[in-house]
Amino acid sequence: MNKVLLCTDMDRTVIPNGRQPEHPDARQRFRQLCALEELCLVYVTGRHRQLVQQAIVSWQLPQPDYAVTDVGTKIYRLVRGEWREMLSWQKQIASDWRGKTHEELQQALQFCPELVLQERSRQNNFKLSYYLPLSANREHIFAAVENQLTQLGVDASLIWSIDEPEQIGLLDVLPRHATKLHVIEFLQHHLGYEHHEVIFAGDSGNDLPVLVSPIQSVLVANAEPEVRQQAQSGARKNGCTHALYLAQENFSLGGNYAAGVLQGVLFFAPQTGTQLKLS
Ligand SMILES: [Mg+2]
Repeated sequence: MNKVLLCTDMDRTVIPNGRQPEHPDARQRFRQLCALEELCLVYVTGRHRQLVQQAIVSWQLPQPDYAVTDVGTKIYRLVRGEWREMLSWQKQIASDWRGKTHEELQQALQFCPELVLQERSRQNNFKLSYYLPLSANREHIFAAVENQLTQLGVDASLIWSIDEPEQIGLLDVLPRHATKLHVIEFLQHHLGYEHHEVIFAGDSGNDLPVLVSPIQSVLVANAEPEVRQQAQSGARKNGCTHALYLAQENFSLGGNYAAGVLQGVLFFAPQTGTQLKLS
């Protein structure tokens, strides 16, 4: 049997909460796909656990087998509806922060008044998250943040994305190895999947590390043009264009949100798509 490890972002990837329309059958077909026995579903999202659970109910999304929450800093395995955190993952990413606490990192970054700390529910031991106005001098601020963190000896990744509806920038400071890319690679190896059995789907900035990597990825059609360009040029630079699929509009369900994800599965794992009679 062909196995598929389908790792997908949630907001504006399988949740149709963007400005583009969703095909009325898209999510139903997505649920059918996820019900296939050979498919292991992983949500990979910036949301924390409660917000993932809420989204599953409100948007009638399929229950996942695993959920990577808080932009890659936590992994949960779902066992008969019970969410169990995989602590081995936190142990693995902890070393990047060299024993520094969330509080200590926060203090070190207080020098920049434009960085406004996000709500408490969006923070955890390994995730320091800020709002940053879109008008701010990003390049300058990121360089200064990186400099501060380097001085502390912390090995961090800065992940930038835009909350389109709210028109505000989101900056996540994460352990270097807590990105969506690293977490998918960890799960792939942990669960024993081959490279060609893994598919990722996403739409925005914090999905880029995966979209430009050798992991087979689909960018949904509702992604912003800027993200599409960055994904394409990044994949070219990394020699990974064969692993990036851009969802097209000319598909029976269109290419937005879950329909784009279905297209990606059809493209990278046609035998799985065929079972759903997708075309
Ligand atoms: Mg998204």
